[in-house]
Amino acid sequence: MRFTTRFAPSPTGRLHLGHAWSALLAHDASRFAGGDLLLRIEDIDTTRCRPEFEAGIYADLAWLGLDWPTPVRRQSDHFADYAAAIEKLRSLGVLYRCFLTRREIAEQAASAPHAPGEGADGIVYVGPAQPMSQDEEQARLARGDSFAWRLSLRYSQDLLGEEFPRLVFVERDEATNTERAVPVRPQIHGDVILARKDTPASYHLCVVHDDALQNITHVIRGEDLRSATHVHVLLQKLLGLPTPVYRHHALLTGPDGKRYAKRDKSLTLAALREAGVSPVQIRARIGLPT
Ligand code: GLU
Repeated sequence: MRFTTRFAPSPTGRLHLGHAWSALLAHDASRFAGGDLLLRIEDIDTTRCRPEFEAGIYADLAWLGLDWPTPVRRQSDHFADYAAAIEKLRSLGVLYRCFLTRREIAEQAASAPHAPGEGADGIVYVGPAQPMSQDEEQARLARGDSFAWRLSLRYSQDLLGEEFPRLVFVERDEATNTERAVPVRPQIHGDVILARKDTPASYHLCVVHDDALQNITHVIRGEDLRSATHVHVLLQKLLGLPTPVYRHHALLTGPDGKRYAKRDKSLTLAALREAGVSPVQIRARIGLPT
């Protein structure tokens, strides 16, 4: 299969040096493999994403010397696709409606005998062994109560049986030019939220759906997303989708040792460009061959 990777930013701010690092690593890997680099706009959070930031992404990446096939997939144009994926998971019986508020979950966690810990998405929540009774669920729906669709690890395990503990993904380490099989442990996240009553999408669901739809063979992204991969591989298995090879690169840090963030305005690519920095200098600054 042709090597295909992607850069998938969210237009919630201007791109900074950390994004340039991620985008250029994906670009260089696709060039090296003679494959493709796709750009995908991950804008399902319509309250935080803005059109001017999306326009900024195109301008900054083109300035860096990247190009990509068009049309670009914008996730906000495809909510119906994600709703269909949720429907499929529902029909498999691996989702449940969770009516607890964040506060109730925090209270439950505080009084639990074993501290459930914090996952990448907040408190690790594991649903009750017995599903809510149909009568209670119907009553709450009739009342118009809010809920989240959570992926039940218990029901997933029941469905997948022996396969569940044997799930693995291949992680590539560029520094040593090696690949290793990583056992999948979605338990580190508990039962994640895949959709809410009024939003038929979540990062985990959309990214898995789109990587498969776009035939992504290699996912290259920051190591802050490594733990999310455990959820993604489980979703791929449940939805019957292929698992790409994963490469999680170290995050670029500034002189203060902290990682770059969208709030570091002076380090946006736009600000650096205005200050007269060239794309070649950007590559040199982040340690890539020029
Ligand atoms: N949209 C995500 C972000 O901006 C990246 C998703 C991914 O690469 O899987 O952090």
